[in-house]
Amino acid sequence: MGFREECLPRSRPSPAKLLVKAPSVEREVEEIARRILEQAAAGRPFREMGIIVRAQETYVPILRSTLERFGIPARFYFDSKLEEHAAVRFLSGAVDAMLGGWDHAQTLGVLRLAPRFADSNSMDRFEFAVRQQIPNSGLGALKAILGEGAERLKRFIDNLGAIEEWRSFTLAPKDWAARLRTLRNLAGQSGLPAGSHEMALQWRSQAAALDLFDEALQEAAEALTARPLAPGSRERSGPNPQPTRALASPTPNPGERSEPHPRPLAPGTRPPAPTIQLPDFWRAVKSVLRLEPLRLEDRRRNVVHVLSAPEARQWVLPVVFVCGMVEKQFPQFHRQDPFFPDAARCRLNAVGIRVRTAAEFERDERALFDSAITRATLLVTLSYPEFDSRGDRNLPSLYLEDLVLPQQEFRAVRPQSRHAPSLPGRIEIGAPVLLDFLRQKTARLSPSALENYLQCPFQYFGSRVLRLQTAPPRPEDRLDFPTQGNIVHEVLAVWWTSRQDLEPLFEQIFERFLEEKQIPPGYHTERLRNAMIEDLQAFAAADRWPRGGFQSRMEEKFVFPLDASLQISGKIDRLDVAPDGSAFVIDYKYSRAQGTKERLTNENLVQAPLYLMAAEKVFGVKPAGMFYVGLKGGMVYAGWKAGHVEGIPDGDPFPQDWLERAGERTLQVVERIRAGHIEVAPADVDKCRFCDSRDVCRVETRQATVVAGGTDDRLSSSVSGLHPTEGA
Ligand code: SF4
Repeated sequence: MGFREECLPRSRPSPAKLLVKAPSVEREVEEIARRILEQAAAGRPFREMGIIVRAQETYVPILRSTLERFGIPARFYFDSKLEEHAAVRFLSGAVDAMLGGWDHAQTLGVLRLAPRFADSNSMDRFEFAVRQQIPNSGLGALKAILGEGAERLKRFIDNLGAIEEWRSFTLAPKDWAARLRTLRNLAGQSGLPAGSHEMALQWRSQAAALDLFDEALQEAAEALTARPLAPGSRERSGPNPQPTRALASPTPNPGERSEPHPRPLAPGTRPPAPTIQLPDFWRAVKSVLRLEPLRLEDRRRNVVHVLSAPEARQWVLPVVFVCGMVEKQFPQFHRQDPFFPDAARCRLNAVGIRVRTAAEFERDERALFDSAITRATLLVTLSYPEFDSRGDRNLPSLYLEDLVLPQQEFRAVRPQSRHAPSLPGRIEIGAPVLLDFLRQKTARLSPSALENYLQCPFQYFGSRVLRLQTAPPRPEDRLDFPTQGNIVHEVLAVWWTSRQDLEPLFEQIFERFLEEKQIPPGYHTERLRNAMIEDLQAFAAADRWPRGGFQSRMEEKFVFPLDASLQISGKIDRLDVAPDGSAFVIDYKYSRAQGTKERLTNENLVQAPLYLMAAEKVFGVKPAGMFYVGLKGGMVYAGWKAGHVEGIPDGDPFPQDWLERAGERTLQVVERIRAGHIEVAPADVDKCRFCDSRDVCRVETRQATVVAGGTDDRLSSSVSGLHPTEGA
């Protein structure tokens, strides 16, 4: 062709490359944050660093929150959707809730988005109360929940209720737009402290979103107003009123459309717009909101740039991070279209019609990767998570196979606290008045409270001392483990002594629970119902306990003094007393066999010896054994017994001095509680996932080995460095 190929010298130096593997996506992003802060501490401005992201859905939200947590200023070169902005979700939600008859769950979601109640105790209390009584609807019922006080919230609900009358209106689209524009008065302003950078960003983004919301109303009104010109005429003057988006015209309700114009239209005029009801106008507004992007202006200069892989092609920065180097994320996987396969595309290409094939997508993906790793002039750090969110091992990207990269270790980090200079070395309650309070609170304890403390003092502090409550579950989640356990216990308590038919008894008790807790019927409820009745029937069929040889006492409550300052209280599920005065304590567990058996070797459990003590001291019987009966997925007995008794299942012998040692241990535990020890120290970290305090205690981050922190304004020599710190 007459061309000559010539190799030119590289215009940029090759960057150093390295690879980092982290256990999870969250840790991977934290590692990137740590390295950015390390670079910043060494004097590199944030603006000289960039993060290239290929899998946006996975990484962008985590990057946003992590960089914010670590105080790293960042600009994200990604559009967000207008309809997803909190202010727009609040306004849209208010209209949707009104049109839906103020369903309480939906209305609560809207109220929680109100910026002025973002940080409000009265709103928190209100949310708990509303959650407890849903499903329900109507603003009147909502206000009744509020009761006395909370005047601000009451006024706000009244203002919200003012739009109720709109349901009966029939207006022209432009009038609907004008009316809905007044909604922005409901939004108010957030309660963030004045002067903070976060507040400025939030106010700016809210103002921009509300302006775009108004534009969307206008656009919807124009689209619905646009009518064909009178036949044979042309637009007379003025701007083109055609809508910028194609919107489906709403279907008017019969009789609502205004009557046709009685006289023929003059050439160049449009017929008047029809009047419509709010649902029709609102449908058009939502179509516009769905399509509208939200681009917020950010004038900060010294920021880390977070870029998509295509956007990064036009960037060059000294330090670049490329995250998510796992299969199906980078490279992304392009399947052949089953309805338009590559063979057909190739044939079209051969005759000059350009359509892209899967092979071309793969080439593009490769080009994006080659571009990403050459965007840095000094250092490019590639990273990937070893495991996905389900704990399955990720396959590292095949692009990494071509590179020989030195691998560096991930280091657990936590952001430096923004408010407290450091955590105290010991976490304990020290004020005499609080210690007095603790002494009073611990005058009577149950075995489960003691086990709670033995699992983790901080968990005990949250649940038993502060009595923190979790948000009431939604109706569909109310048939939770404790509720299932309560149903099974109640059925067994009645059935064991009355011997009536198990199934009708279960149905009766189950229905009562559904009604009391307002649990909706559905697949989940039905599945759990079937599982419970099957487990109970399996127990009834398989149990060989010689019940005729005992007198059974069900659900027996007890209180006994362990020493002068401590009483132990509890409830024994079943106490089987033999004619000779010996007795077995039975405790039902609606848990699986493995979990039930593990209770025998768990040294942090004191229930069994304390129950045996109760049997002896309160009920005047001679303890002969204690059994846990596991009922889920098949019956199992696991426990201890003093000797051989005919027909009684196998059990371990009583440990030596069991009751005495349990008593001493209990007193030691109570002494620690009363001394104010509330440290975060889980005996079994696996159980942390069931703990309601897990978001408060920060056990994960407290176990981190490095602390890091800083912002463009907070970053100073004292915090920009990375400091070793103590473990949890
Ligand atoms: S999550 Fe674990 S460490 Fe944290 S309070 Fe609960 S049990 Fe303790």
